[in-house]
Amino acid sequence: MRVGIVGLGLIGGSLGLALRRLRHAIDVTGVARQAESAAEAIQRGAVDRASTDLAELSDCDIVVIATPIEEIAGVMERLAPIVGANALITDVASVKRPVLAWAQRLPNPSRFLGGHPVAGKTRSGLRESDAEIFDHEPWIFTPAEGQDVRRFDTWFEMVRAIGASVSFMRPDLHDEQMAFLSHLAFVVSSAYAQTVKRQADETLGGPGYRGMVRLAGGDPAMYEAISRENRDALVDAIDRFDAVLHQYRQRISAGTRVKDLFGGAVHAGR
Ligand code: NAP
Repeated sequence: MRVGIVGLGLIGGSLGLALRRLRHAIDVTGVARQAESAAEAIQRGAVDRASTDLAELSDCDIVVIATPIEEIAGVMERLAPIVGANALITDVASVKRPVLAWAQRLPNPSRFLGGHPVAGKTRSGLRESDAEIFDHEPWIFTPAEGQDVRRFDTWFEMVRAIGASVSFMRPDLHDEQMAFLSHLAFVVSSAYAQTVKRQADETLGGPGYRGMVRLAGGDPAMYEAISRENRDALVDAIDRFDAVLHQYRQRISAGTRVKDLFGGAVHAGR
């Protein structure tokens, strides 16, 4: 099985490391934007070979696009005339509806299946790559309406073999869910960090503070791309959070029935 990975950062690098650890006769070819990243990926053992040339992926059975979201449409366009007619293409982007729309421009859109490993670390980049990050985490695939995904069975097997649990969801539902489960979280973390920074001495903050601001330390370019591509769902999530936060403010200000508010939220931490 020949797997191509375009984009050798945190997710692409981790995927390469995890697949190569399986030793199931999987051959991994990487493509990076910069030659240094390609060389580093080889040196870290994330790929068998790597370059900056998509043409190197011409004989791959499956190509995984693991670039930043804003690069995906362009990579798809350049990849289409290079890969074989039977090659499959997938991706790992954190939002799925726009990616599916871009894939409709491929010569054979049914050979594309969007995917999202719900895994990661606060910091991006190849240096953070780690074969373990997919272990016990969901990997959500988002087929187009009526798409037969059976031709991706071997890929699903590999995804399971590196420890992830495969599930399927409509792309719009995925994006709505992630607006609450992931995207709202980094917005709130950043807004909290910004608020605190203006008013308090951060060096006095303990584990609670550090836990709250952890996501604010993530990649601002990735957060911006996600906010742009999942705008409506994220705005809805922010509005709902705003309403709940306002309720907390009202109750705390009035000094009444505050305990049940905190008690009601407790299940989220378990
Ligand atoms: P990253 O660490 O910044 O890595 C992205 C890599 O893509 C960089 O190494 C860059 O290569 C490469 N790249 C950029 N443009 C390219 C192009 N045109 N052709 C080939 N390579 C290109 O990003 P990441 O965190 O792995 O995120 C990658 C994707 O995974 C995003 O779509 C993101 O939404 C998704 N995702 C991220 C997380 C997370 O927690 N970070 C979780 C799940 C999914 P150079 O080094 O050569 O510039």
